This record gives sequence, structure tokens and C-alpha cells, in this order.
Amino acid sequence: MSYQALYRVWRPQRFDELVGQQVVTQTLKNAIITHQISHAYLFAGPRGTGKTSAAKIFAKAVNCHHLEDGEPCNKCDLCKAITNGQLNDVIEIDAASNNGVEEIRDIRDKAKYAPTQADYKVYIIDEVHMLSTGAFNALLKTLEEPPANVIFILATTEPHKIPLTIISRVQRFDFRRISAKDAFGRMKYILDQKNVEYEEKALWVIANAAEGGMRDALSILDQVLSFSDNQVKLADALTVTGSVTKQLLEKYFFEVTGHQSAEALDTMKDILGEGKDGQRFIEDLISFIRDVLLYQESPELIMVESTGLTDEDFAKMSKAAPATALYQMIDELNNIQEEMRFTTHPDVYLEVLTVKLSQVDGQANVQPAPQANETTSTVDQNTQQTIEQLQATVKSLQATVKKLQSAPAASTRPAKQPSQPRVQQRKVEVKLSQINPVLGKATRRDLVEIQGLWQELLSKLSVPQRSLLHVSKPVAASEDGVIVAFDYAFLFQQAMDDSELLASMEQGLQELTGNERHVVFVPKDKWPQIRREYIKEHGLDKHQPQQSPRPASQQPVQSATSESEQPPLPPEPGEPVGEPPTSAESGPTDTVSKAQELFGSEIVKVEDN
Ligand SMILES: [Zn+2]
Repeated sequence: MSYQALYRVWRPQRFDELVGQQVVTQTLKNAIITHQISHAYLFAGPRGTGKTSAAKIFAKAVNCHHLEDGEPCNKCDLCKAITNGQLNDVIEIDAASNNGVEEIRDIRDKAKYAPTQADYKVYIIDEVHMLSTGAFNALLKTLEEPPANVIFILATTEPHKIPLTIISRVQRFDFRRISAKDAFGRMKYILDQKNVEYEEKALWVIANAAEGGMRDALSILDQVLSFSDNQVKLADALTVTGSVTKQLLEKYFFEVTGHQSAEALDTMKDILGEGKDGQRFIEDLISFIRDVLLYQESPELIMVESTGLTDEDFAKMSKAAPATALYQMIDELNNIQEEMRFTTHPDVYLEVLTVKLSQVDGQANVQPAPQANETTSTVDQNTQQTIEQLQATVKSLQATVKKLQSAPAASTRPAKQPSQPRVQQRKVEVKLSQINPVLGKATRRDLVEIQGLWQELLSKLSVPQRSLLHVSKPVAASEDGVIVAFDYAFLFQQAMDDSELLASMEQGLQELTGNERHVVFVPKDKWPQIRREYIKEHGLDKHQPQQSPRPASQQPVQSATSESEQPPLPPEPGEPVGEPPTSAESGPTDTVSKAQELFGSEIVKVEDN
């Protein structure tokens, strides 16, 4: 028998088997149990997160006559036929290859006919964003007059490419990235079932490398299995995933925090010698330092076993530098990551970086460091001579960088922007599509309510979740949404990756307020800007006293209070809640002009996924 890929053999056949999508699967099951089935769905989310699997399970569940708590039985003829792709009434279409108008017209014509064997005809259109405009129009016509007993399930990795006219006619479900923990659990389960031996650390390496895609995790697992003769070993997992070996990174970390720049430069070369490119090295280093920071905050915040290192390693590393120094290092890394995108000489940047990191001591930052007293002694140990040498090295390296930057290769980019706003750092993905609807309906009253029960909400969460939210606070709220801002971008990212956290928060909020509220996260440094952009885009700066007042007849009913003058605006972070804005200082127009002053009229790039 030829070998079958794991992700095919172990494709989930029940909602319960779909990893990491509890919110989606529970909602779908409820819809089936209560017979509230819509005629069109949109399953949006990153690749390999279970969208088409969920679509097929749904197709079975709506047709199976032996439902068990909303799950298909997988035993009856209909279930089996759908699983094997042999039921004529369940039609799978890959829009990536069938993107023509003809194919969709064909659907339109055939959809009219009642299902032949099943109760419902189900069309699953994968990668639906690939359809041509003509095909979308044809699809829209069908969705506008949906034939009875026909269900459309549209799946996509890029929902923003789908016309709004289509979006408004479907029920949308967002599939989340699979957490490393969930991917680990699923792989462990599969290997246990197959009686294959494995090192747990290897599974963690694979789970992390898969970056949120279950299918990717299983594909890597397949490779490691073929590599190591039906065993899963850590060394092989590291080779296959190409992750920089943690041991080298740990060595590098101790060297830079110990201010040993010469040794650190050697280690960096070793790491690059392993065939890693510079960008990957920096990404690995950022997540490495992030883990150390989280461990410092509270060891429960990270799953040590998922890192390939031990608890002792982390205990040592978290003492090697104060949090302020680690934050500075992450800043340096973020900066260099930006700059390196335009260079053909990454080595020089990495050398400068290494020297700079070796100099970071957390002192330059004004923020009081909790463990500041521990650092003074290490700083003292550095002789003045070493410092001078390092300064000389940095100067010469910086000169080289400057030369390179003015070289033709680098000068091809439009007018050099010396100080790009931090918000343009990559990797921080803000979901404007979820934020703006909350802003549209936000009121101070809702915000005050949420702020009032924030502590109570936190007390409902697990310890790691609580410590993660320790640096967050609600900044806007509506009757069905809450926007939560995080002090640090990397903690924001951590929260975004945690599907359980969102679910627990939403559940907690519902228990406390009785309202179903959607929770959206933002990094704090981006929040004022998102708010300003929203005000600007929605013309909320128009109702200003200094502008010629409109005739009374045209004016919306409003009183002189600030609340009605500024439509549902949430307060600025830090602004006293519930009080009217004082003077022009916090008036919307002023906010906008300030925003323009600061950022120009150029639209700040915020990725909208
Ligand atoms: Zn069945």
C-alpha cells in the first residue's frame, strides 16, 4: 500500500476532532441542532486551519439522519459517501483552478435542481477569492436568490479580496491559527494511535515551525518520519524545520548579555554558517528573547518544553539581564529587521547588531527596572578600555553601513525616510475589520461598564491568561464589542495567537454583562492612531463649533454635551472616562490635525487581515 500523507489519513471527520476552532465548531453544531441553517457561509482563515475539513463535516452533519449532538455519525451511507467524495450532492470546487464565469454559471444552472440523494446540496468553493469578477457576479446572483435546499460554503485565506456584496450575504466564520499547544496535542495523539516513537521536544519544534497551520505541522511530521525511519527525533526535527538550533541561540544570548561582543560575533557566524539567513536569525532571536521576558514575568507564561530548552536554562537566562535591557534588545532587533529588508549586505548589519546588543545594559531606559540592582555589578566589571574599543568598532561599522545605504542598491527606494514611525514594524497584524465595527457603536457608558468589571473578568481566567492581560486594558466598548490594548507589541502578538484566551474572555464577559461581546486586541502604541484614522475616515471631525453651523433643521438632534457632539467616540487611553473633553486639547478636530501634524496625510499602513 502506498504511503498516504498524514493530513489526509487523519483529516478530522467530526467537529470535535477539529483542533483549535472550538468557537466555530460549537456555533456550527448549535446551528445544526437548532435547525438554523443559513444558505451561505464564509469560512475565512489562514491555510491549514481546518476550513475545508469543517465544510465537509458540516455537509455531512446537515445530511446525516443519525446525528449525535450535532456531529455526523460517519457510519451511514450518506456520511461515508461524503467522506469519500462520492456523493453527487456535495460538490467541491477549487476556485484556484476553476475561476471562470462558465463554471459558476454551471453551478447556477445545476443548483436549481433538487438534491438527488441527500436532503441538502452543498457546494464547497475553496479559495473563493480567486474567482474572476464575472464569476463573482454570477455567484452573487445565485446567492441573491438562493435555491431551496442548497448550501454554499465559501472558503478563503484572503477574505479581503472578496467583494462586499458577497460578504454581506454570507454568514462568516473566522478560523484561527492553531496554537503550538494544540498542534502538539494532535500530533501526539496521532503518533500514539500509530504506535510510533517520538521525542516530545521534537513535536514542539514541529508545532512551532508550523506557525499555526495543522496541515503544515502534519506535513513536517511526515518529512521527519521519513527522515528518521519511523521515529521522531529532535535532531531530525531541527534539521527538517531548519530552525536555528536553540543551543547556539542560548550561547549567543549569554554572550551579548555578558557584554562579550567578540565571542558573540563568532557565535553569530556559526549560526549563519548553519545556512540560516539573517532575517530568520533575527526572527528566532526576537522570539527567543520574548520567551525569556515572559519567563521573567512569570514562568507559567511560556511552555518551556515547547522551546527545546529546560527550566534551568530559562532560570539562568532570566537572570542574565533585566527586563529593560531585554526590551531594548527587542527594539534594536526590530529596527535592524526593518533596515535589513533593503540591503544586499546583511552581514554588516548583523555585526553592528551584535555589537550593539552586547552594549545594552538596560540603563539608558528611564523606566525603573525591577531587578536594576542586579545589573550594576556586571556593568562595573567592564573596563573602560573594553567600552572604548567597542565604541570604536561600532563607529567604523556604522560608517560602513552608511556607505552601503547610499550605494545604488539601497538608494533605489523613494526618498529616504530617516525615522519611520514604529507602527510600520512588520508582523504586528491589527484587525481593522473587527475594530472599526466596535468603534462605530462604541459608547462611554459601555466602556465604563467594562472597566468596572475588568478585575472580575480577569479573576475568571487562568493564571497564565491573567498574567498576559496584566499589561492590557479595555480602551473602547460597544454593546457587542470590546477593544483591548496591550502595552507591548509582542504580548499583543502572544494574545492574538491564543485562541483560548479570546474564547474565555468572551465567555466571561457574557456571564458578567449578559451581552455577547466580541473581543478585539490592539497594540497600545497603535491605538491612538487607529482611533484618529477612524475619526478622520468617518468625518467625525465635522461637527465642530468653529465650523459654520448647519441650519437647525438639518442638525441631528443633539444637546450641548460632549457625548452627543462626538458620536460614539471612545476616550483616548489615559483620558478621564466619562468627563467631557476639556478645551480644545482633546477635541476631535484637534486630534485629527495633531495626527496629521505627526503623521502627515499619508495613510499609515496597518495590515488588515
Ligand atoms: Zn451519518
